Amino acid sequence: MTFELDPLPFAEDALEPYISARTVNFHYNKHHKGYVSKLNDALADDDERRDASLEDIISTSDGHVFNCAAQVWNHTFYWQSLDAGNSTSPSSELQHQINNDFGDIEALKDALQDAGAGEFGSGWAWLCWEPNERKLFVTSTTDAQTPLTSDATPLLTIDVWEHAYYLDYQNDRGAYIRSLLDNIINWDFANANFAKA
Ligand code: MN
Repeated sequence: MTFELDPLPFAEDALEPYISARTVNFHYNKHHKGYVSKLNDALADDDERRDASLEDIISTSDGHVFNCAAQVWNHTFYWQSLDAGNSTSPSSELQHQINNDFGDIEALKDALQDAGAGEFGSGWAWLCWEPNERKLFVTSTTDAQTPLTSDATPLLTIDVWEHAYYLDYQNDRGAYIRSLLDNIINWDFANANFAKA
């Protein structure tokens, strides 16, 4: 099996002015696509893992193969977490849980902002569902690390690698995260992930 690059769920300029078409173009066609290519190269002679699912590879690999596979999965999840329309909002079920676990949506946004801005180097900010304690939580992961390797169910993510924002916001990672939180989070995607969890 050869892993393929999932199509972008929107046009490259659909996230303007919050994320430029130039950033989406580089991010998708160079970075995301590059991880798919590297993963296929790494598994070209690996009969055992070549036919596994992306999720299986993430949960059973480490090093270079893990990094490539997890970055493919994280990026596909990131694109789905964004919505050009700013027309979605948390479902009544998710809103209730947000109020329960954070107080209100603004407090959740602040938690995501702090997690993303506080990640020292490259990484990701996540809203997740913890099924054992039955609560939402916010976390960040470093480099290619992903909540997929834990019990938690990710609901949405924000890529905080510099390539995600440097062309548009230069070094102001906080402004990039806030802009996404206030304008282009795809709550329908989070709602669907929450409903499945
Ligand atoms: Mn990225």
